[in-house]
Amino acid sequence: MFFKRIEMQGFKSFAEPVTIEFDRGITCVVGPNGSGKSNISDAIRWVLGEQSPKMLRGSRMDDVIFAGTASRKSRGMAEVTLVIDNSDNMLPIEYSEVAITRRMYRSGESEYAINGNSCRMKDIRELLMDTGIGVDGYSLIGQGKISEIISNKTESIREIFEETAGIVSYRSKKAEAERKLAAASDNMARVTDIISEIEGRIDGLREDSAKATEYLTLRDRHKQLEVNITVRNIDDIQEKATQTAQEAAQLESELKASYEERETRDKEARECRAKIQELEEQYRQADEELKENTERANRLTGEKNVSRERLAGME
Ligand code: ATP
Repeated sequence: MFFKRIEMQGFKSFAEPVTIEFDRGITCVVGPNGSGKSNISDAIRWVLGEQSPKMLRGSRMDDVIFAGTASRKSRGMAEVTLVIDNSDNMLPIEYSEVAITRRMYRSGESEYAINGNSCRMKDIRELLMDTGIGVDGYSLIGQGKISEIISNKTESIREIFEETAGIVSYRSKKAEAERKLAAASDNMARVTDIISEIEGRIDGLREDSAKATEYLTLRDRHKQLEVNITVRNIDDIQEKATQTAQEAAQLESELKASYEERETRDKEARECRAKIQELEEQYRQADEELKENTERANRLTGEKNVSRERLAGME
C-alpha cells in the first residue's frame, strides 16, 4: 500500500486543479519559502479527516479554501482526492486503488467519498484505522515537529516511535474494547438487578406457574368434554332426524291411503246419489200410477154402483 497521487482543487494555494504523482519510496518537493510545499501535507492531513484548523495552520476550517490573490478570484469550494494503491489489500475494501475525497464549501458543509461514493468521515477513519495512516499519531509530522521530538527525553522518543509503529489502531481497539467492557458491565449490573428482582418474585411465580399448569390441564379437559358433548349431540340429532324421516314417510303413506279411501267413498256417494235419484223417479212414477189407478178404481166403483142401481131398477 502506498500513496499514488494527490489531486487538489481550490485548496489553499492550489486554486486550479493540480495533480501530484508520488513514486514509491521517497518523494521530495522542493521550492522556495512560502511557495506552498507544506500545503501539500496539509492537504493529505485534511483529506484524512483532520478536524482542527490549527493543525492545518489556519484559524478557521474554511481557511483551507483558496482565498484569492490580487490577480485571482477566491474559490467557493476546496476539494482534495488522495489515491492509494491497495493491490496488497491492506485496506479492508475490494478495490486495488482507493480514492478518498474530501470536499468543503464556504457554507461550512463538508462531503466525503470513497471511490466516488458518498460516505461519512467515520467510514474513512475506519478504513484507515489499522494501517497506521491517519491524522492521529505521528504518521504525519509537520515542520518543526522533528526538532521538538528530538529534544524530548529518550523515554518519550521511544513512546513516540511505538505509537508511530501502529499503536494507534491498538489504542482505538482498546478504547472500543473498554467501551464494550463498560457496556457489558452495565448489562451485567442490569442482569444482576433483574435476577435479584426475579428471585424475590420466584415463589409467587411458582404458584402462578402451578395455577397456569392447572388451568391449561382443565382447559384441555374442558375442550375434550365439549367435543364429546358436541359429538354426542350430533349423534342424537342424527338419530332423531332418521326417526322423524321414517315417521314422515309412514304418515305420507297413511295420508295417501286416506286419499284413496276418500276417493272410493266419494265414488260410492256419487253412485248412491244416482241410485236415490233413480228410486225417487220410480217412486214418482209409481205414485202417479197409483193416483191414476185410484181414480180409475173410484170411477169404476162409481160406474159399478150406477150399474147396480140400474140392475136393481131393471129387476
Ligand atoms: P515554508 O517552507 O517557508 O514553510 P512552504 O513552501 O511550506 O513554505 P506553505 O507554508 O505551505 O509554504 O505555503 C503558504 C502559502 O500558501 C502562502 O503563500 C499562503 O499565502 C498560501 N495560502 C495558504 N492558505 C491559502 C488560502 N486559503 N488561499 C490562498 N493562498 C493560501
